[in-house]
Amino acid sequence: MSGSLPTAKPCAIPDTPLAHAMPGLDTCVHCGFCLQACPTYLALNDENDSPRGRIVLMRALVEGDLSLDDPAVQTHIDRCLGCRGCESACPSGVPYGQLLEATRATLTARRPLPAVVRLALGVFARPWALGTALAMGRLARGTGVASLLAGVKGRLGFAFAMLQSTALPIKRKNYTARGDGSRGSVAVLQGCVMEGLFAGTNRATARVLTVNDYRVVAAPGEGCCGALHAHAGDLETARTLARRNIAAFEKSGAELVAVNASGCGAMMKEYGHLLHDDPAWRERAERLASRVRDVSELLAAAGPRPGAALPLHVTYDAPCHLVHAQHISAPPLAVLRAIPELQLTPLVDADQCCGSAGIYNLVEPETSNAVLAPKLAHVAETGAALVATGNPGCLMQIGAGLARAGSTTRVVHPIDLLDASYARRDA
Ligand code: SF4
Ligand code: SF4
Repeated sequence: MSGSLPTAKPCAIPDTPLAHAMPGLDTCVHCGFCLQACPTYLALNDENDSPRGRIVLMRALVEGDLSLDDPAVQTHIDRCLGCRGCESACPSGVPYGQLLEATRATLTARRPLPAVVRLALGVFARPWALGTALAMGRLARGTGVASLLAGVKGRLGFAFAMLQSTALPIKRKNYTARGDGSRGSVAVLQGCVMEGLFAGTNRATARVLTVNDYRVVAAPGEGCCGALHAHAGDLETARTLARRNIAAFEKSGAELVAVNASGCGAMMKEYGHLLHDDPAWRERAERLASRVRDVSELLAAAGPRPGAALPLHVTYDAPCHLVHAQHISAPPLAVLRAIPELQLTPLVDADQCCGSAGIYNLVEPETSNAVLAPKLAHVAETGAALVATGNPGCLMQIGAGLARAGSTTRVVHPIDLLDASYARRDA
């Protein structure tokens, strides 16, 4: 198929987010280059579960050929991981992530989200509820309950295996991070899941930035970035959370904002788009978004400083929201290469989604498993003892998959490896 398909019919769903996204829809020339980059197409072998197929469905909604109530449309849109692998493969610059978000927001206005999704999003939007849930998770991890139940069949066992995989697989040594602060001030997003289950990685992030001459400052009041809500179509809650973060980081006075969870970094870099129609916040959102960096970007810009030897066999998996949404591929490898004697084995299809995608593995478990399977096989081929990846969802999904497959390979954030290397140098 070739040639653009301009809108011929009047819009059947005016004043909806999808109707406003029409210019993006028009950029698709239906070439199909994105198909082989799409994990759901590869797993399900159905054109309707491909980027091109979903774009055709979106257009049919706008032109009135399909109804927003059509269950088949909802199924194929729900099955999209939002990994944006199709964006990287697309020669036409189709803003697929924005189209998906607009479609989900349009569908969500028409039908209630599934109860489990509403429950999860409600918890993430309320710091007290999320704090309680994560404290229970830490308790299950610390008491060994998570490890005990990780082998239970079904999604419950998988959820406990995810929880168990948040335990750091290497020994953490504390050290006093020193640097001259000459690279400017930076506030670190502590976030929600990262602070709840990977608090040690957040502390490590502050230390490695300090060692690399950034001056780390606090930003009280920051929290969940709103990515889960935006991806599920709940744009209003996402905007509320974004405004809270913008105000907190402005108040911190930091020149830059460092993020160690690539899904959150991708979201925060798009705050300008999210608040585009809010005249009171648009400029503030754009300003904040322009100051957001993945932590690996900041470290790569500084070298990063090498640490002491860490003779570990590691492979690297690229989180979708780092490589496809933020177009960052070299900096995390630079972080790992700053560690002497670390053996880095490339991972086949490292930039393919692992099937985590926020709460996708909760609501679409079969497809999530089908997408995860080739990832686990490729990890096994490397023979690595550790998979390094910079996103909590990917860490938990790959970690749980490996554990339940009986593998001894564990998962770790690249920052924790660099931090361990610096700790050894300091010892
Ligand atoms: S999204 Fe891009 S790659 Fe896919 S069919 Fe459309 S133009 Fe081609
Ligand atoms: S976002 Fe990922 S799953 Fe969705 S259409 Fe694009 S490549 Fe496929």
